[in-house]
Amino acid sequence: MGFLYRSTRNENETATASEAILKGLAENGGLFVPDEIPELDVPFEELAKMDYKEVAYEVMSRMLTDFTEDELKACINGAYDSKFDTELIAPVKYHHGAYILELFHGKTIAFKDMALSILPYLLTTAAKKNNIDKEIVILTATSGDTGKAALAGFADVPGTKIAVFYPKNGVSPIQEKQMVTEKGKNTFVAGITGNFDDAQTGVKKMFSDKALAEYLDEKGFQFSSANSINIGRLVPQMVYYVYSYTRLVAAGTIKAGDEINIVVPTGNFGNILAAYYASVMGLPVHKFICASNDNKVLYDFFTTGEYDRNREFILTTSPSMDILISSNLERLIYRIAGNDAAKNAELMKSLNETGKYEITEEMKKNLYQFYGNYATTDEVAETIRKVYDEDGYVLDTHTSVAVAVYDKYKEETGDSAPTIIASTASPYKFTRSVITAIEPELDSKEDFELVDELEKISQVKVPQAIEEIRTAPVVHDTVCDKEDMEKVVKNFLGI
Ligand SMILES: *Cc1c(COP(=O)(O)O)cnc(C)c1O
Repeated sequence: MGFLYRSTRNENETATASEAILKGLAENGGLFVPDEIPELDVPFEELAKMDYKEVAYEVMSRMLTDFTEDELKACINGAYDSKFDTELIAPVKYHHGAYILELFHGKTIAFKDMALSILPYLLTTAAKKNNIDKEIVILTATSGDTGKAALAGFADVPGTKIAVFYPKNGVSPIQEKQMVTEKGKNTFVAGITGNFDDAQTGVKKMFSDKALAEYLDEKGFQFSSANSINIGRLVPQMVYYVYSYTRLVAAGTIKAGDEINIVVPTGNFGNILAAYYASVMGLPVHKFICASNDNKVLYDFFTTGEYDRNREFILTTSPSMDILISSNLERLIYRIAGNDAAKNAELMKSLNETGKYEITEEMKKNLYQFYGNYATTDEVAETIRKVYDEDGYVLDTHTSVAVAVYDKYKEETGDSAPTIIASTASPYKFTRSVITAIEPELDSKEDFELVDELEKISQVKVPQAIEEIRTAPVVHDTVCDKEDMEKVVKNFLGI
């Protein structure tokens, strides 16, 4: 028997897994959370013998209970194929005293591919199951990586259209080029004059606008989301934590049941929440180490119990983590409040109205497995250089935040438990910041010259995703005010 998903803000609003994926967001801004996270009742030694797709089936079938075995296997087989440049899908490599889980071997060389290569399959399957005859319009706010990964996933998928909004001056040149050269006929991309939080707020506003939903319905459209507020993003992300753990078991590095630490460079809190959900399912985790950049709202939250977004928004060299409202934290807040929708709704109302909220002592106790810290932009560059000097391995800026924070954690606690660090992007995506950390004198070169320099320095071949955009023409050149997002979406849909 399957459990239901429920809104974090209204205990009476429920959905099946497929309905939750279709809707993306619950009403009034709530997020869908599972009523239950079933135990993963397959021994780790067994999982250690399975490949990525087989582990994915074991984990995802526990969570997406209204998908049949055939449906789910078709989704998994469609997603994790030769789009990835390694059959391992998510290889684990040992550097700097930790196990680096490389999540950037998909089409757009960021970890967002891990979920966004399967989401279109989940979504179109969910639409079929629920007899939806409308065209699904994916609305996405991006701090840089979700945008291209979602575009790549949904490009030319029948029955869908996708609109992506990014902060015009808040993404790396390579990230921007990846998005504005997207060729899919059903795609739309716009830069907004504002930051990521503005883009995300604008998108959430369109989602919760009932009149707009009715108007779309009349015209034969329905919104859904590719952001990590969609449970269809989170569930596929649980997989690689189980997968990487079982690779360590297979290698004899740990014994089944041994506890590990997991370090995650965090922005919207989706990736680390997926790790937490995996632990509730049975993955033995000692600490979740939440790594932030200069936008250290989460570090402050974990140290004080107060979440306060009233502060300057800082543009860093890890733009995908330049976020002050970490949407998925709400799912953890709901849980540590004892699955209390009313309590959570009250805190989120406070966040909306005053920009902050404070959790109770009781709730704070439930966070004992979380450790938060942050790395400054200088520390990020230093860490890239330090790790490169050790053994020639090149970190991207986001992963470097995680490594720098892990060093602080070890220094503070002396904890030497085996540790997995989520590596969320290829260094090729943030070439300028990465190269200038290692060889500052190269800063005067053009972006694509730096790509060739990085190939020499890292001894890692330039990924296909980068080769493709070298000479690709710009297809999307819309820039709009954040107030005009709804207008441009209607324009794109021709309504
Ligand atoms: C999105 C992203 C993050 C942050 O992940 P969240 O799930 O939003 O916390 C970190 N690094 C990179 C490279 C990303 O693209």
